[in-house]
Amino acid sequence: MKLIIVGGGSAGLASALAAARNGAEVLLVEADSSIGGDLFSGMPLLGAYTSLGVSCVKGILTEILDMCEALSPGGHPGPVCDWRSVVGLCLDPEILRLAILQLLQKYGVRILLNTRITDVRVTAGVVQQLLASSPVSQTWLDCNAAIDASGGGFITKLCGGEVMFGSESGEFQPLSLTFRMCNVDYPGFLRFIRDNPGEALLCDNPVLERDRHQAARNLYEKGFPYVALAAAGKLLGEAIERGELHPCTAAFITPTSLPRQELCLNVTRVSGVNCRDSSQLATVLYELNGQIIRTAEFFRKKVPGFRQASISAVMPRLGMRESGRIVGEYVLSQDDVIQARRFPDAVAHGSHHVDIHGSGTAQVRIPVRDGLSYEIPYACLLPRNLANLMVAGRCISSDRGANGSARVMGTCIATGQAAGCAAALLLKLQKKNFRELDPADFTTGLW
Ligand SMILES: Cc1cc2nc3c(=O)[nH]c(=O)nc-3n(C[C@H](O)[C@H](O)[C@H](O)COP(=O)(O)OP(=O)(O)OC[C@H]3O[C@@H](n4cnc5c(N)ncnc54)[C@H](O)[C@@H]3O)c2cc1C
Repeated sequence: MKLIIVGGGSAGLASALAAARNGAEVLLVEADSSIGGDLFSGMPLLGAYTSLGVSCVKGILTEILDMCEALSPGGHPGPVCDWRSVVGLCLDPEILRLAILQLLQKYGVRILLNTRITDVRVTAGVVQQLLASSPVSQTWLDCNAAIDASGGGFITKLCGGEVMFGSESGEFQPLSLTFRMCNVDYPGFLRFIRDNPGEALLCDNPVLERDRHQAARNLYEKGFPYVALAAAGKLLGEAIERGELHPCTAAFITPTSLPRQELCLNVTRVSGVNCRDSSQLATVLYELNGQIIRTAEFFRKKVPGFRQASISAVMPRLGMRESGRIVGEYVLSQDDVIQARRFPDAVAHGSHHVDIHGSGTAQVRIPVRDGLSYEIPYACLLPRNLANLMVAGRCISSDRGANGSARVMGTCIATGQAAGCAAALLLKLQKKNFRELDPADFTTGLW
């Protein structure tokens, strides 16, 4: 009895680990030549903690964190509040990569790299085979169940399922490339924020601190530069006005490695791109590359704490915030997210605010009510009319607003592990339709 998971990003990796840990025979198929997607870029894992700091994703994530700590004791900050809106899980991406590979090996997950699923054989809603295409061969793979963790619902679409893309008018969130800088003087930078709180995005979320000066002092005292330098501030704002920097909402900064005094910068952006049109993407990559060079130079010259800093890594692939979302048995709505709604068939929790980046300096941010988490129903992972296919990660069934929250990595891990646990149980019971399972039988300990 075999489970095939398509896509080795945050959701696919969590699915693979959870399914294999529960005894399933797992084959993970990834089109790229390495695993991880955006997971190893250095961005904070969002959605794993509520804004009030309550952990809402456990299970496999706890095991990953324990492995990170064993490999590099005290090497990363862990959960940190940005005193703006969220608590982000700040990890060293290199250690995270080592930890996840250790766990995949421990649980015996087989991986096919450089292999894209390009076709499917489906009989009466049951996926029977997936066509694995590598640069040198094509092979039909038999499966008893499959998980679409492709980030865009691409397998669901191949199977005849419905997938929605972007906004109703065909708009997508901007594309970005994040990068990292090391040798940053954390205290020097945080002192600047403490003394100039107007330069940072702070106090967005009513459940957190309301006094900007106190929020900036909290950041300084904690010692981790998890903070967004605001375009509305003087430093960034004037640089944008002078044309020295591209327009953006903020420079979102995340501490990654304490030994390297490193942080990740999420600043670059190009808007107005149709993410389904590959012909536009190379031009975007050139533009983002130039933005990184100019941004790093600006930070070294103008931002306190960065004088000795240098670029230590650039995100290996173009960062697409938005892609396809499947139409499932239930479509999670923006209202479900911000009202922290509960569901009888919950399989995961999310907690990130509705977060939709627009063009220029625009960004929609709507927090979840009272700093709570919301539940994600099983029905959001089940594509309509397909029996043994589940979906996990960014492409779960959600409207655009809800996806602006559920797309973050902590929540992708949560839906990934729920799909993996469900698939392991389906195979164990030798059933053919995910709808025959009761979520209560596989969700203990997941949040
Ligand atoms: C610029 C940017 C900033 C972000 N900031 C944050 C942040 O600060 N915190 C946060 O938590 N999240 C952030 N996100 C969101 C988050 O990174 C992604 O939404 C999330 O990683 C998606 O995970 P996934 O596993 O669903 O998909 P992906 O990571 O996209 O993984 C899907 C994988 O499937 C593979 N694949 C696709 N089709 C096939 C096929 N046919 N056959 C085989 N393999 C296939 C792809 O190669 C890919 O590796 C950000 C995203 C971007 C782009």
